[in-house]
Amino acid sequence: MAENIESKVALVSGGSRGIGREVVLRLARDGFDVGFCYQSNEQAARNLEKEAAELGGTARAFQADVSHADSVRSFVAQTEQTLGPVDLAVTSAGITKDNPLLMMPDEDWHRVIQVNLDGVYNVCRSVIFEMMKRKSGSIINISSVAGVYGNATQTNYAASKAGIIGFSRSLAKEVGRYGIRANVVAPGFIETDMTADLGERTTKKALQQIPLNRLGRADEVADLVSYLGSDRASYITGAVFQIDGGITI
Ligand code: NAP
Repeated sequence: MAENIESKVALVSGGSRGIGREVVLRLARDGFDVGFCYQSNEQAARNLEKEAAELGGTARAFQADVSHADSVRSFVAQTEQTLGPVDLAVTSAGITKDNPLLMMPDEDWHRVIQVNLDGVYNVCRSVIFEMMKRKSGSIINISSVAGVYGNATQTNYAASKAGIIGFSRSLAKEVGRYGIRANVVAPGFIETDMTADLGERTTKKALQQIPLNRLGRADEVADLVSYLGSDRASYITGAVFQIDGGITI
């Protein structure tokens, strides 16, 4: 049974760290009951549950590997059983395994596609029927500016992130008549564990190309997600929002 059938329910993949973590906190503050998944760092997930509770919100952590359909189905089912049907799904789980194509190990190509692109498919596939039945819902998939413009040494990552854009636009066309919106957020450089080991040289070079002259913060991305997931964005679907400090101008 749902704990509170009055609240709206959000589901966030990769919610335990980085951008997903800030999305969980922001949506909890917005009044959503949030079910989120982590892959391996249970401590970070449990800490986040506590942090959300301290804010007066509800966030429940579930272990799942988004690249496995059964694992995601179980994550969605547990969220629905614990909190209720999902109104908003945000896919933030993602990884990088960078290399020039010439040096790219086959397994790194496949793993990045499996986590980043299959992961989005698995989550959306698992929530869509319930949303269609209820004739409402919102999906926000986290892509990257690399998926829009490409990035050297990231053929695998950029392909997965470009795939998310094609997937989301197609989904928006497919399910708009059910009152379901599907949008994409494409961040530039955001300060998280993913960008922590970029190295001084790469970070310095990136900063020279960012008109706002700083990396973005995960809470700034979470603000955009909060807006897109709310009724304030009720006429927005199939859109790709870059949040990148101007690096792509
Ligand atoms: P992050 O700090 O590395 O966090 C990644 C999150 O995804 C963690 O919660 C991790 O859980 C989870 N995760 C990883 N693989 C998973 C899997 N197979 N199944 C389930 N969960 C998994 O990354 P981030 O920087 O917040 O990035 C979040 C999203 O934004 C990604 O899709 C990324 O591609 C995108 N993005 C990030 C940036 C940036 O500059 N940071 C820029 C553009 C786009 P565990 O801790 O348990 O492993």
